[in-house]
Amino acid sequence: MTLQTLTAHELLNLIKQKKTSAQEIYRSISSQIEKTEKDVHAYAHIFQNPKIEESRECPIPVAIKDNICITDKLTTCSSKILSGFRPPYNATVIEKLKNSGAVFIGHTNMDEFAFGSSTETSYYGPTHNPHKLECVPGGSSGGSAAAVAANEAIWALGSDTGGSIRQPAAFCGVVGLKPTYGRVSRYGLIAFASSLDQIGPITKDVRDAALLMNIIAGYDEKDSTSANIPIPDYTQALIDNVKGLKIGIPKEYFIEGLSEEVKRAVFNAIDLLKKQGAIFKEISLPHTAYAVATYYIVATAEASSNLARFDGVQYGLRIQPQKTRKNPIVDLYEETRDAGFGLEAKRRIMLGTYSLSSGYYDAYYLKGLKVRTLIKQDFEKAFETLDAIITPTTPTTAFKIGEKANDPLSMYLSDIYTISANLSGIPAISIPCATGKDNLPIGLQIMAKPFDEEMLFRISYTFEKNKNH
Ligand code: GLN
Repeated sequence: MTLQTLTAHELLNLIKQKKTSAQEIYRSISSQIEKTEKDVHAYAHIFQNPKIEESRECPIPVAIKDNICITDKLTTCSSKILSGFRPPYNATVIEKLKNSGAVFIGHTNMDEFAFGSSTETSYYGPTHNPHKLECVPGGSSGGSAAAVAANEAIWALGSDTGGSIRQPAAFCGVVGLKPTYGRVSRYGLIAFASSLDQIGPITKDVRDAALLMNIIAGYDEKDSTSANIPIPDYTQALIDNVKGLKIGIPKEYFIEGLSEEVKRAVFNAIDLLKKQGAIFKEISLPHTAYAVATYYIVATAEASSNLARFDGVQYGLRIQPQKTRKNPIVDLYEETRDAGFGLEAKRRIMLGTYSLSSGYYDAYYLKGLKVRTLIKQDFEKAFETLDAIITPTTPTTAFKIGEKANDPLSMYLSDIYTISANLSGIPAISIPCATGKDNLPIGLQIMAKPFDEEMLFRISYTFEKNKNH
């Protein structure tokens, strides 16, 4: 049986009926990895002999992004500066998965420190899109999305600061959810931009995303930004019914740069939901045009501060200077950081440091925060009368490896549709809605009010159920 191609909920049913075992599922994943990993390169580190406990509630093999701490396992953010780093503790999401019996396959490849949209900035080299190997899988959680799409994991965790779960999910034809800020604990997630980062599921279907959210969501006293709001059973939200739901289509998302095939696929999806009884309305989110600029001010400012801790003293790599230039400790910091950070990480540290510096703080960082509030208010206003908003996840399907690698600005623009959800803290999901040319998947994004992941599940589930009829 090709167990590795099934979803977690299908496998759990087979286990319940005693038709398969956790051992057997893990073996099928391992042999798939042996077959396809050399082409796809989804993993940064594959774990040997993970613990498999047959009688546990959810003994499903899971892949974890390389920025989520697992005790004693290499956790490197796919950066040279963290080489050899083995955390002394588990992230809260890892504790929760462990308690449910999850089998940890490995840490997945990612853009260094989650800086990127293509998984090309990894110290370990790029991941390839399983649908077309010469294309990127998206990023920064490209390894997690590729692992799920290539059946090298049943499901996976990613992290999303500006689209890093949803954009790779769209490029790889899988489901990716960025939960509401505060819904899932960030404890043990190596910080990129603390006010934007969220961990979330990458899965083969909507039901699996709900199941994985049931495991990882919830209040955590170890994360001061975690929300103390009860979590529902998300599987109860998998209802095939959108009758009367009011959904907005923001006109600012259908502009130049959006490819024809993606636009067509999104409007086909809208038609399908209309037939199911949803009511659509064109809306305006007037500050959308400023989202990318605002994001790159706020995210790089926070990143430059978060990355200050990687100095060769506390974690991972240390370059011992051969001769003293300034003074021994400054030399050690400088040489370690010079050798340990890749180009994109250095670019972001410089951008962030610049906008936080005393002469420019008001002009850039403070202004960025003000515009962020305006973007958030656009959504608050829209959700006064709407249940959800629908957009494309990305302007195009997956691009070729190398195509944008030397053009940071065009790379930054590939997150144009996903970034606003992080700036406003709202939940957003990407689900596969069509296949474009060259067999490349197209993603549909749905956004909802804070803490209304159930609305996302309901609409996504209805779409998934009815799309092939
Ligand atoms: N691609 C965006 C960036 O480069 C988002 C990354 C992310 O969500 N981690 O910052």
